[in-house]
Amino acid sequence: MPGAERSDVRTLDNFIGGRWVEARATEFFDVHNPAVGDIIGRTPLSTADDVDAAVQAAAQAFPGWRDTPVNARAQYLYKFKALCEQHFEALARTVTTEHGKTLDEARGSVRRGIECAEVACGAPSLMQGFGLEDISKGVDCHVVRQPIGVVAAIAPFNFPAMVPMWFLPFAIVTGNTFILKPSEQVPLSQRMMVDLLQQCDLPPGVVNLVNGGRDVVNAICDHPGIRAVSFVGSTPVARHVYQRATHAGKRAQALGGAKNFVVVMPDADFDRSIDIISESFYGCAGERCLAGSMLIPVGDAHREARDRMVAAAKALKVGDGTTPGVTMGPVISAGHRDKVIGYIEKGLSEGAQLLVDGRTTRVEDRPNGYFVGPTVFDNVSAKMAIGHEEIFGPVASICPVKTLDEAIAMMKAHPNANATSIFTSSGKAAREFAKHATASMVGVNIGVAAPMAYFPFGGAKDSFFGDLKAHGRDGIEFYTDKKVTISRWF
Ligand code: NAD
Repeated sequence: MPGAERSDVRTLDNFIGGRWVEARATEFFDVHNPAVGDIIGRTPLSTADDVDAAVQAAAQAFPGWRDTPVNARAQYLYKFKALCEQHFEALARTVTTEHGKTLDEARGSVRRGIECAEVACGAPSLMQGFGLEDISKGVDCHVVRQPIGVVAAIAPFNFPAMVPMWFLPFAIVTGNTFILKPSEQVPLSQRMMVDLLQQCDLPPGVVNLVNGGRDVVNAICDHPGIRAVSFVGSTPVARHVYQRATHAGKRAQALGGAKNFVVVMPDADFDRSIDIISESFYGCAGERCLAGSMLIPVGDAHREARDRMVAAAKALKVGDGTTPGVTMGPVISAGHRDKVIGYIEKGLSEGAQLLVDGRTTRVEDRPNGYFVGPTVFDNVSAKMAIGHEEIFGPVASICPVKTLDEAIAMMKAHPNANATSIFTSSGKAAREFAKHATASMVGVNIGVAAPMAYFPFGGAKDSFFGDLKAHGRDGIEFYTDKKVTISRWF
């Protein structure tokens, strides 16, 4: 949606070579506060020339940065972490203002982002290579990990402060220079984080930020000066970015969309589980790649799972995420609200039974916010649109099955395989489930199976294109080349 010229709304700049500079954009995207409906900023839809300027700055900074000792590089991240702690509340509030999630959810996401910087500070250990003497008489061999050059990351709208941190700290601590492309829908917290990085006196060009949309993404994929691309977003764009970037000879990792199955066995501890299950479906208004979407009660679990889910959905308080007591915020935009409502209507027309209807939810003091209330459908089948497509909103689709095998078969048949959970008190059922789940992130009595910063994050099948996943040891591997030196001294 291009924005009209308005003098009271600030247009964001790009950050290139250590300075905020105006983009060469002629089109702009309005940033909204989704709880209020107001325009709070304008994202320039930058051009391939802006990307090129960022690549030049990053390339110029690379030789000096890779020669900076790794422990000295880590010191910048220690300073950055300290500044993030100091500005923690302001960061969380910015996330809520541009995205809509509640302040508590925003705080949780900022914390997860900071944890990535903390883990990356371990680079002097994590980056170490290995070696072996006397691989032949008088010949030694050793391996060192080296940075690969200029790398870029492209972020989605749903975790503005956290997702960029899956990449940025790991990329720069290993000696690469970095270009970030935020989602045009939520550029404000990323601007704030880059401001904090600048206060750490990071050398110019080590971190750059280019605002924009698809043209910037395509320019990043094509630019010969960029060696690796990380992407997080929907499956069609993830596939496109992976194919385009690898076609241009780059390393790529592209995390895509999800349709997550939450299986509830008859022996589940419902008293302890239901809040966790409800949080999986309705936390962040369902706009999480790890959010539950399909609730699969097995056998006798159906009635209790359904009744408790209905009660949990009705107990949520929808409103502005900054208002105390609100437990679910709006979705990101008017367009996305209409899309989610469209799915609810499709569910009805395809014969699912609507038990809680979020279409009519209104928030009195926020009449222009993009709200959809928590919604529960029963008797959903995998053939229905709501049983198959990613809704990315607060809609729980209950699909009862007779056996755990049936639940697993349904999951295997789906092209996405990001996250999944089982609720049970049976170790055997949990083991079977974890072993056969196609998704790569599995929760056992955990609703949102989010790997912490020291573990790999990413799915399988159409939820992930690439091999090395985000953060943890995979992050270090992705951003380094293993150089083998074989030596003999006469
Ligand atoms: P999106 O795919 O619409 O956008 C992601 C990024 O791609 C943005 O920066 C956007 O500017 C850019 N983009 C959009 N359309 C493009 C196009 N046609 N060509 C090139 N670039 C394009 O995703 P979104 O709506 O911002 O985020 C939500 C999606 O991200 C959901 O599908 C969600 O499941 C997924 N997601 C996945 C993970 C994961 O770990 N797998 C994490 C977060 C979000």
